Amino acid sequence: MSLFLGVVTLDTLPNDLKMKSVVLSILYPPREGHKSMDLFEKCKGGFAEAKAAREAGLYPYFRPITNNEGTESVIDGRHLIMIGSNNYLGLTMHPKVRQAAIAALETFGPSCSGSRFLNGTLELHLELERRLAHFVGKEAALVFSTGYQTNLGTISALIGRDDVVITDKDDHASILDGCKLSYGKNQRFLHNDMDSLERALATVPDSAGRLVVVDGVFSMGGDIAPLPKIVALCQKYGARLMVDDAHSIGVLGGGKGTAAHFGLTDDVDLIMGTFSKSFASLGGFIAGSADVIDYIQHTARSLIFSASIPPANAAAALAALEVMEEEPERIARLNEIGAYMRRRYRELGFDIGNSETPIIPILIREQTKTLQAWKALFEAGVYTNPVLEPAVPPQMTLLRTSYIATHTDEQMERVLQIMETVGQQLGLIP
Ligand code: PMP
Repeated sequence: MSLFLGVVTLDTLPNDLKMKSVVLSILYPPREGHKSMDLFEKCKGGFAEAKAAREAGLYPYFRPITNNEGTESVIDGRHLIMIGSNNYLGLTMHPKVRQAAIAALETFGPSCSGSRFLNGTLELHLELERRLAHFVGKEAALVFSTGYQTNLGTISALIGRDDVVITDKDDHASILDGCKLSYGKNQRFLHNDMDSLERALATVPDSAGRLVVVDGVFSMGGDIAPLPKIVALCQKYGARLMVDDAHSIGVLGGGKGTAAHFGLTDDVDLIMGTFSKSFASLGGFIAGSADVIDYIQHTARSLIFSASIPPANAAAALAALEVMEEEPERIARLNEIGAYMRRRYRELGFDIGNSETPIIPILIREQTKTLQAWKALFEAGVYTNPVLEPAVPPQMTLLRTSYIATHTDEQMERVLQIMETVGQQLGLIP
């Protein structure tokens, strides 16, 4: 290949290295007094905030888990009660789910080595799509390799240059990234604030297509989107509605998600789900009318240009779906634990915001104290997730706790005891 340098090309430069550099310095003389910015300057010494937290002995992230039995884990040699996972139904430990993954691995190998679009579709994927569509009450479904890619691909496929996507300020990052990837305009409304949503809808010109996207259950606050009001506003302003049910499937509406919880399945156009939580796997899906799913299937770049969900993950998700249908008592138990823990935390005086689900934030509202609380709980044998800026605004820093259908009563009492001690030590509760 030759690079043109005026009349000279790299090919025609002398072979002698010294000569070559002389010629190049004539062609590209150093700019007087100019010092160009090094892109990596900001990386010197690593990521500054992480370094500071490490030095203070308060760094909570990327800790390797050496053993994970669902409700209990071993991290840094410590046995911990796990209240920091999204394994809501405890199905990562279910023999049927594990067995299905092993059998698919043995039959099809570890990877499809290609995209769904070309050489990466198995009958297993199609069966999973049919079963998911039926489960959530839609005509068709499409399986992606992660929930993140599902939001990225779906939103960017549907929102064209002249369209508007309207999102809740607390929507998951993958929704925001899907909006950024689209060519359309993104308007955000205040969290669960219906006046703010209506103001956003009212400004969209008639010529624009419009899509409202909300989390069904908000991943940090554990509160539920007010779907009846959102549906009414979407109908008033002719907007389509997509609900991210990552944290609702397996939890609300008999496991079928937020739309089912409110009896609004036909009024929600698109239902999104992920396999990385109740489904005990990895992957994601979007469900809706057959035409819309067909359109997304042929235009979503995160589907077309990425390898398909591996067979073991598809098989695990399918088995998990069957367990959800066969063992509804798991869903009931999860919600019972959620209700019990919300009541007890509130009685103890913790600020748990507007949680209505088994995701229960402990609002601390101060970054260092949040990390101190995380560490004290960790050392006392409880695993939680500290949620800091920029995931939440600084006045909203929290410990995210979430529960599993297989948690025992004893584990819950132990968690409450430790929470009470730590909460009092740090002045979070009286
Ligand atoms: N949506 C929501 C609301 C989520 O919480 C998450 C994951 N935390 C995702 C989408 C992305 O899912 P996945 O982990 O499968 O990529």
